[in-house]
Amino acid sequence: MSKLVSTPLTVVGAGPAGIMAAYTAAELGVDVTIIDDNPFPGGQYYRKSPSEFQFENPNDAFSGRKDANAILNKLAHQKIHAIYNTSVWGVFDKHKLALADQERSYELPTDRVILATGAYDRPFAFPGWTLPGILGAGATLRMIKTQWVFPGKRILLAGLGPLQLALADALVHLGAKVVCVVEAANPYKNWKQLFHIIEHPDRMQEALGYLYTLRKNKVPILYNHAIIHADGKDQVQQARVAKVDNSGRLIPDPVKQYDVDAICLGYGLLPSIQLMSAFGCKLHYNPCLGWWVPEHNSMMETSQLGIFVAGDVTNIGGSKVALLEGQIAGLTAAFQLKYINDEAYKEKLIPLLMLHNRLDRLTNALQQIYSFRPGLLNLATDETLICRCEEVTVGQAKEAIKQGMKDLHQVKLATRTGMGYCQGRFCSPLVAPLIAEVTGEPLLDLLPFTVRPPIQPLPLRILASGSR
Ligand SMILES: Cc1cc2nc3c(=O)[nH]c(=O)nc-3n(C[C@H](O)[C@H](O)[C@H](O)COP(=O)(O)OP(=O)(O)OC[C@H]3O[C@@H](n4cnc5c(N)ncnc54)[C@H](O)[C@@H]3O)c2cc1C
Repeated sequence: MSKLVSTPLTVVGAGPAGIMAAYTAAELGVDVTIIDDNPFPGGQYYRKSPSEFQFENPNDAFSGRKDANAILNKLAHQKIHAIYNTSVWGVFDKHKLALADQERSYELPTDRVILATGAYDRPFAFPGWTLPGILGAGATLRMIKTQWVFPGKRILLAGLGPLQLALADALVHLGAKVVCVVEAANPYKNWKQLFHIIEHPDRMQEALGYLYTLRKNKVPILYNHAIIHADGKDQVQQARVAKVDNSGRLIPDPVKQYDVDAICLGYGLLPSIQLMSAFGCKLHYNPCLGWWVPEHNSMMETSQLGIFVAGDVTNIGGSKVALLEGQIAGLTAAFQLKYINDEAYKEKLIPLLMLHNRLDRLTNALQQIYSFRPGLLNLATDETLICRCEEVTVGQAKEAIKQGMKDLHQVKLATRTGMGYCQGRFCSPLVAPLIAEVTGEPLLDLLPFTVRPPIQPLPLRILASGSR
């Protein structure tokens, strides 16, 4: 592990956004500490296989991302102090980060902070969703990139959004049998938004490449469909799929059945907002994502002065947006720390903001096409688990809401949802829409779970080793 130093700028997360934030500031002379809980940098997009893997072509170690080496090499900058295998589990006294590695917990005083903590798979509950063999699309991509394995021999993909296509393409290339891609939206019915994608030929080419692979390998894609049931004894064996309308509600049509031994659920990604909450940054509900995002200005600064955000944590814009937002945040932090004068700052900032505006149009278009569909949540029955950690069912949560528990905190106190290992990361995206449905109150008015340290599970041995 690198020697621990307190620097004027601290970046949490060494994915595309964090790397570019650290590098941009370092190039201007700022000493930067970058922290990531993985053994290697790269985040989700440039995720690296373990060094024990032997590759004939070194690019294979990064899932073949062409620019991976160029991006990862930026962390070799002499002004960057990188700390891996270390998670940030809390914020104390406003600006002190609590860090934990495999052996100990310790504090890191900070000045400017850039939070580039990325996102995670949105949970999606329906009867049978907890059967072994059912996993998230992002988690499957992670499995493929790090271990080069896939979860089954006959795999069905169900979800909402383009990450499904990237996953289907990766699985087919590895030799898996993808029986079907089940997509809840129908992008071809949204020509107005599709037009914004045509504006970005590289993204268009990427999508067409995936579609070509699927067509060549005879993988069917069902649009306006959703998985409604998974069956199996000790392992998933069958998937039932039905037609849904644009709000995600079932429409009468014969149910299709597929024999499978794995299902990957890709119902979108949710920003990892825990550290923003811990810093006291304002959050607002984004209806397209169906989740809260940190409020920030165009320079990526949050409602807390000197605390910035960048990358997927702001709006799920993908790797290109993450790289760009990292640059904007790193540049602005360096400006605030007086490493660049006003004129030079503006000269560098303006082209970045213009590009950001252009990419924002694409992000917004994709979010409109693949917007969160509350109707899909009605597929769960009263017996379906809504909180896996504490084994709470939809029926139990509904009952608590009917008894008067009208926000996430009250439902947590009444049912224990959010008190388990995941700290609400996986159950609150399911409980929040349920509260809105039962009470008739808009989701916009709900607040996310209050975050309490440790934001990630930690062994007591590590916590006890801390100075506090
Ligand atoms: C599981 C998953 C797989 C994905 N796979 C693909 C793909 O194959 N292709 C594609 O185009 N897009 C993929 N995406 C989308 C992709 O994540 C983004 O486009 C891009 O990587 C976002 O970059 P980022 O820097 O914002 O976040 P990330 O790349 O997610 O990087 C965030 C980093 O911060 C670290 N971190 C978070 N919290 C803490 C903490 N408290 N302490 C320390 N470290 C922390 C994380 O471990 C991670 O390394 C995937 C997303 C997910 C969630």
